[in-house]
Amino acid sequence: MDIKNYVTLEFPAVPENVEFARVTIACFASQIHSFTLEEIDDIKLVVSEAISNTVLHSYDDDKGIIRLSATRNDNILTVTVQDFGKGIADINQAKTPAFTTDPQRMGMGFTIMEALADELHIFSAPGEGVKVTMKKLAHGAGKDSDGREV
Ligand code: ATP
Ligand code: MG
Repeated sequence: MDIKNYVTLEFPAVPENVEFARVTIACFASQIHSFTLEEIDDIKLVVSEAISNTVLHSYDDDKGIIRLSATRNDNILTVTVQDFGKGIADINQAKTPAFTTDPQRMGMGFTIMEALADELHIFSAPGEGVKVTMKKLAHGAGKDSDGREV
């Protein structure tokens, strides 16, 4: 069966919305019944890292916006986190494990996201914000949401 669904939300880049986004996407992802609990945990962690980055790094004040969207296409979940802040000049450098521009941080967010997502894409340019797209396939891909072979 061909199952499609989507959601798009916009909210301010403030710390309390990290948990909001994580729970919201976990709820949406759970419509794909063949996701394991471990895969849902992976999705939650990727979303928190991406939203935290926006809260911490993208805007100098608390007036910035995050656009969060998720799409379900059969057993594939795609989540996009977008901000419209200062952007990243060198994406490869930002992805390097332990690279951070904030000495208080570990510089491990993108490394964790890449490890847990099946696909991770980062789009950015200075002054044009950051868009992070992650794709996660359900463990039972090849089966429908009730676990039947398709
Ligand atoms: P950690 O995630 O371990 O707390 P971190 O956020 O510094 O530390 P990453 O998430 O890997 O590490 O991000 C690396 C760097 O990329 C950040 O230090 C920051 O300079 C830049 N960056 C990441 N996301 C954004 C963003 N949305 N806007 C602007 N810069 C960003
Ligand atoms: Mg981070």
